[in-house]
Amino acid sequence: MYSGTAVVPGIGVGPVVRPAPRPTAPEHEEAGDPSVTTVAFGTAAAEVARRLRARSKAASGAASEVLSATATLAEDRGLATFVTKHATQGAGPATATTAAIEELAAMFTAAGGLMAERVTDLYDVRDRIVAELLELPEPGIPVPDEPSVLLADDLAPADTAGLDPARIVAIATELGGSTSHTAIIARQLGIPCVVAVTDLHDVTAGDRVAVDGSRGTVTVDPDEAQVAALVEEDRRTREAAAGWTGPGRTADGHEVQILANVQDGAGARVAAEQPIEGVGLFRTELSFLDRSTEPTVDEQADIYAAVFEAMGDKKVIVRTLDAGSDKPLAFANQPDEPNPALGVRGLRIGLADPAMLDRQLDGIAAAQARTGADVRVMAPMVTTEAEAQWFAERVRARGLLAGIMIETPSTVLLADRMFRHLDFVSIGTNDLSQYTFAADRMAPTLSDLTDPWQPALLASIKLVADAGRRAGKPVGVCGEAAAHPLLACVLTGLGVTSLSCAATAVRPVGAKLAQVTLAQCEAAAEAALAAPDHARAAQAAAEHLA
Ligand code: PEP
Ligand code: MG
Repeated sequence: MYSGTAVVPGIGVGPVVRPAPRPTAPEHEEAGDPSVTTVAFGTAAAEVARRLRARSKAASGAASEVLSATATLAEDRGLATFVTKHATQGAGPATATTAAIEELAAMFTAAGGLMAERVTDLYDVRDRIVAELLELPEPGIPVPDEPSVLLADDLAPADTAGLDPARIVAIATELGGSTSHTAIIARQLGIPCVVAVTDLHDVTAGDRVAVDGSRGTVTVDPDEAQVAALVEEDRRTREAAAGWTGPGRTADGHEVQILANVQDGAGARVAAEQPIEGVGLFRTELSFLDRSTEPTVDEQADIYAAVFEAMGDKKVIVRTLDAGSDKPLAFANQPDEPNPALGVRGLRIGLADPAMLDRQLDGIAAAQARTGADVRVMAPMVTTEAEAQWFAERVRARGLLAGIMIETPSTVLLADRMFRHLDFVSIGTNDLSQYTFAADRMAPTLSDLTDPWQPALLASIKLVADAGRRAGKPVGVCGEAAAHPLLACVLTGLGVTSLSCAATAVRPVGAKLAQVTLAQCEAAAEAALAAPDHARAAQAAAEHLA
């Protein structure tokens, strides 16, 4: 049995398939006429982009965006320039493409954060273009005849986005973390998934395996009776999830709002089909990642209004731009930083350029006025009481309710004082883990530390929930932790009043909560808090929530 980080709950059993081998540029490719090489590259890159765009159109939500972003990379002007340079120096088309991608990848890696993460996408684009140039079949994931389990070192978004959940019944990867592309897309497709599995390369294609996306395990040649029991348990869980109609409450009637995380109007319309009570996190920056200039107040108002309209009279918590670190925004004037996760990101950009924050708040207020929606606004990456007060005053000046994200230990420690200025808070467990454990949230080798079951993270959440209770104000969780059904029960036991997660996680979370009492949630929380590590916290909690 192999263990990793559980990211999408559920059981998948079947023979292993692995992505098709990637083409390599021939060792001694004949140098051609540079202009012919440049044209050959251009034609192949355009064909690759065309195919990715066609798949993007057929997909939806995050999958669709990831595919179109990868298509854009294939047509990157910088890439074409590098290819021309190598062609002029005498390289043939496949060699020039490989060398050019290497150069671009080095630049992306040096930039760090989200750019560095896109290196996987770059290599994917390289392989597709080289295969096209060499007239080889398109590399990627085979389409198996029988339901199969996909194992890989890591998956390119272009592969994961096109997956058919009827044929690929589970995914396990050796790399990646709970917030990696693989995890995000598997969650959107509802495919059970485990990432950061050590030694997974020992398992070969054709082996029969069982992936348990709740416990984070991959079992080779599993015991058939055990598998049957797990599959039956999974079937019952899925049935309960499908039948759950909301609103969020425990079996004994303790209310917990279940909300969705969205990034645009299209995502909000998909989320609105789920039994949610609103949006707990609208990540506004994700609408602007491809913008080189700041959108006008009117443009912003249109984008925000699309989300508000989708939610009707349900509440929407808008987060102001969380630019910086892994989400660089071209127009946000971010300084060149050696360590962007600890640099000018989130509200710090607003503090440096208050006029830009004001324009965003004006856009949000205009969209609210247009739609009459129930809108609240929160700031990311707050660290001091003064920042919370400064932000809240600006939001209130526009007649809106104000909150902050709790993502730093400093705001946990002063939670009581934060509440003096705020109407609500929402805990961003992804970043709170990263800053509490001094561990990069994207690093697969540190994923044990950034696992949301870590007792120190749970203890931080309890401090904030207690402060919320004293202040009589709501405390939400909108990080990935809220998407795990068992963890959602523990968060409820810790005193959290709302859970905001990906739309596909809404029903599994709501259905699990409906099966347990508040007393069970509290006992599970107490047991998890007392555990010596994340794995034993999860085990101890599960015993109380069976
Ligand atoms: C978080 O940090 O938990 C969060 C929800 O914000 P993001 O994942 O967008 O950084
Ligand atoms: Mg965050």
